[in-house]
Formats: sequence, C-alpha cells, structure tokens
Amino acid sequence: MVAENYRIVEEKVCQACERSGRSRSEVTLIAVSKTKPVQMIQEAMKAGANIFGENKVQELCEKYEALPEELHWHMIGHLQRNKVKYVVDKAEYIHSVDSLRLAEEISKEALKRNIQAKILIEVNVAGEESKFGVSMEDTEDLIRAIAGLPNICIEGLMTIAPYVENPEENRPIFRSLKKLAVDIKMKNIDNVHMGVLSMGMTGDYEVAIEEGATMVRVGTGIFGERNYEK
Ligand SMILES: *Cc1c(COP(=O)(O)O)cnc(C)c1O
Repeated sequence: MVAENYRIVEEKVCQACERSGRSRSEVTLIAVSKTKPVQMIQEAMKAGANIFGENKVQELCEKYEALPEELHWHMIGHLQRNKVKYVVDKAEYIHSVDSLRLAEEISKEALKRNIQAKILIEVNVAGEESKFGVSMEDTEDLIRAIAGLPNICIEGLMTIAPYVENPEENRPIFRSLKKLAVDIKMKNIDNVHMGVLSMGMTGDYEVAIEEGATMVRVGTGIFGERNYEK
C-alpha cells in the first residue's frame, strides 16, 4: 500500500510540474514518516523514496541508525536548542528555524563538527497563533542576523499552511511565501540563498508546486493517517 501511494503522489507531483511549466527535477518530494515504523519506510524505498522527513529528534535518530546510510533525512519539526547536537550531522536540512538563539546553537554545533548546516527559515505566513515560525514582517531581520553566523547556510523558507478543506484556500499563502523569498533574494545578503521553498503537504502540495514549491512534505498521502494514541 505504501509503495503504491508513493507512486501515486509521485505521479501527481509530475503532473503539477507539467501544469506549471516546471521540470520535475526542481521539486523534491519528502516522505514524512513521523510516527510510522521502519518497515513502512522500507516499503516506500521500494517505490524509490529516499528522502524522509521527521519532526522529533529521537525518532529521526533511531530511524537514521536503523536504515541504510544512503537515505536523506530532513528535520521538519520544532527543534529545541538542547537537542540540536543530536541532529545537526544527521539532518541534511533543518526546515524549522525561527529564532536567532536556535540558529546560534546550530551554528555552534556545526562548527564543532566542521560541517555546514543547511537551514530554512520557518515563516508563519497566516499569522496563526498556535504555530511556530517568524512573522512575514520579521523574516528579513532574522535572516540578516543569522547570515553572519559561521557554518550555517540559509537555503530558503518554509511554511506550514493552515488546515483547509479546499487546497485553493492556501494558494495565497504559498504565493506570499514565494514573494517574500523573491524580495529577500533581491537584497543579495551574503551567505543567504533563497533557492528552497518548502511548502505543501498532503492536502495542498499540488497547489504549492504550482506556486513555486521546491520541496513538498507529504505524510498521510504516502503512509496513511497517523495514530498518536499508541
Ligand atoms: C506532519 C507534517 C507534514 C506532513 O503532513 P501530512 O498532512 O500528513 O502530509 C508536513 N510538514 C510538517 C512540518 C509536518 O509536521
């Protein structure tokens, strides 16, 4: 079932790219495997998945150890500073940086290991109170502050759009994030690239691709509903 789901999502990603005149190679499909067992990840691998997203440090580390080295891991969830040291050398991207203090910790740990940490700035585009992320207004200032830190590269922006019934409702959100990225790119800030736009989840990834997403994060659409009770 998981392999089949992955193929269906892959097909829809291709179609959304075609519709918007984009090349499939511009969009990275991240299979969000949080709460799901290793066996299901192996199922997805059979269909070609090799990039996985997790939102908990411990879970990411466990799966990282249990699975082949050639997989790529993305930390997509809120990250506490005291846990940065566990993921900085395992996660290829950290999608959820929304404060200078967190970025300073990532920089410090990356420096210790002599690696470059790739991060995205999480923007709370819709201004939802329940969500993490920096406001649109404060994004540029935060980026300017982080850009000066060693061993950290700002690769782009990420957002978690609101939950909606009709994905079209999120089109303006994706458009706003794209516009913000373009505006910031034009400022030519040293050490800041705006090549990555991580936006779109199971309910709205096709719309996100039409609006310029370069990374989509799909969980339920690949692995099925999550059960948090256990
Ligand atoms: C869980 C999660 C996703 C995947 O959500 P689905 O709706 O299951 O596709 C994407 N991004 C983040 C940050 C998440 O925490």
